[in-house]
This record gives sequence, structure tokens and C-alpha cells, in this order.
Amino acid sequence: MSAVKIQNLVKTFGDLVAVNELTLDVREGEIYGLLGPNGAGKTTTIRMLMGLLDPDSGHASVFGLDSTNDPVGVKRLVGYVPEEQQLYDSLTPRELFDFIASIRQLAQEKVNKRIKEFVKALDFGKYYDKMIVTLSQGNKQKTMLIAALLHAPKLLILDEPFSGLDVRSAKIMKDIVRIHTQNGGSVLLSTHVMEIAQGLCDRVGIIDEGVLVAEGTLEELRVKAHKDGATLESLFLKLTKQEDEVAEGVSVLREALVE
Ligand code: ATP
Repeated sequence: MSAVKIQNLVKTFGDLVAVNELTLDVREGEIYGLLGPNGAGKTTTIRMLMGLLDPDSGHASVFGLDSTNDPVGVKRLVGYVPEEQQLYDSLTPRELFDFIASIRQLAQEKVNKRIKEFVKALDFGKYYDKMIVTLSQGNKQKTMLIAALLHAPKLLILDEPFSGLDVRSAKIMKDIVRIHTQNGGSVLLSTHVMEIAQGLCDRVGIIDEGVLVAEGTLEELRVKAHKDGATLESLFLKLTKQEDEVAEGVSVLREALVE
């Protein structure tokens, strides 16, 4: 069974078609990277998958549960770290985790053990009892990540998980993603960081203006773009038709920087 199944998904905002007949699958046990330029429709797609936004048409499901009809069931299976954090500023991470454990009705002892391990791995002990409002962006992100992992979800959905993380934390985030799949979990993540996607993802889907322009392993994308040995960055720019714009921008900059 697929971890995620998205079929002909469409979402418009007025005249703007944010997601346009999008069809893709995330297979169980894989790390799938959703890539695309700013405004491509990644977050909108993820929000529909989480049942937070209704599609105009099409379907999205998680392990066979329909995102629109059974958002509660979907949330039980998914650990979701959104791009924009809406945290309870006046709580501490400890209080937030306790609160989540109680509304999810998780066994306290098990959760405490998990929290302890995550706090140690992420070097988060210093911040555990500080008010969330006082934390840096990266530490807020770690709070969200731990919160999303508390119920041992089958699928992790991470929207831009690497923005704001320092080198050590980004490495640990990558390790967490890998360990999650080694333990049988699945991951869908969106990112702008091509080096990370290249090193981490089993398959990627590139979307542009809401349309899936390419999908596959790095090798499959190289074949599609007729670019042997190319990096994901250069494939991404070619497949999203931004290659020429970048070259032009660089040549203008080169002149500007000389003056
Ligand atoms: P980024 O990489 O910049 O986060 P993205 O790929 O996640 O971008 P989305 O946030 O899904 O892109 O946005 C897709 C398009 O839909 C954008 O043009 C955005 O401005 C528009 N959009 C998203 N949400 C709304 C909304 N609630 N109302 C109107 N337009 C919206």
C-alpha cells in the first residue's frame, strides 16, 4: 500500500491555480522529496493531504484514509511539521509535549522515554523548560519535530525542515529521517535545498506552478533531462526551465559587481 496517494488534486485561489491535476505516490518505507520553486504549490499540497484545506477536486489519502473525509484518522498516522510554526508561545517545550501526550492519550512512561532520547539527540536540554516564545527559530523547529514524533507516526511530513537549523541539527534531522524509514516509517518532505534532497531522498517529485514536471530517482531524472551525471540542482533548474534565467542573472551580477 502507498503511504501517500494523490490523484488529480486541484486547488485554486481565485484565478490562481495553485495545484493543478497533481498525481503522485509516496511508497511505504521511502523518503520522498517534494521540490519546486517558491509558490509552486508544495505547502498547499501538504495542507490538503493533512485535511487542513479542501481540494476543489481530486483525492489525497494516507495509508488508504481519505484526507478530506477522515482528517482525524490521517492525523493519527502522521507526524507533521509545518513550515509556519503555530506554537503555544507561553508554554515551555516540556508543557507542550505533556499537553500533546495527554490529548493523544499516549502512555506517559513511553512518551517520557522518547522525549528524553530526542532531547538528548537534539541537544535540547537547555531549552526544555524555557518559554517557547523566547526560543530561536531552529529551537522552535526542534520543538515541533519532537512534538510530531511523540506518537510514533507511520508517516512523517516535513515542510521545509532544514530552514533555520544549524549544521549539527540539520545532520541530526537527516539522521532522524533515515532512522524513521529504517524502522519501517515513510517520509514526505519539501525542501529548497537540492544538496540535501540529492543525498537524502529515495525519489523526488518536482512541481512547478502546481504541475508535476518530473518524478523519479536522481538517475531517472538524469535520463529524462538527458544530463548524464548531473547534480539535482542543475536538473531542477533545467526541468523548471530556470537555467537561462539563472545564467542571465549571474552575468548581470558579474558586471554589477565589477563596477
Ligand atoms: P514556498 O516554497 O515559497 O513555500 P510553495 O511551493 O509551498 O512555496 P504554496 O505556499 O503552496 O507554495 O503556494 C502556492 C501558490 O498559492 C502561491 O502562489 C501562493 O501565493 C498561493 N496561495 C497559497 N495559499 C493561499 C491562500 N490562502 N490564498 C491565496 N493564495 C494562496
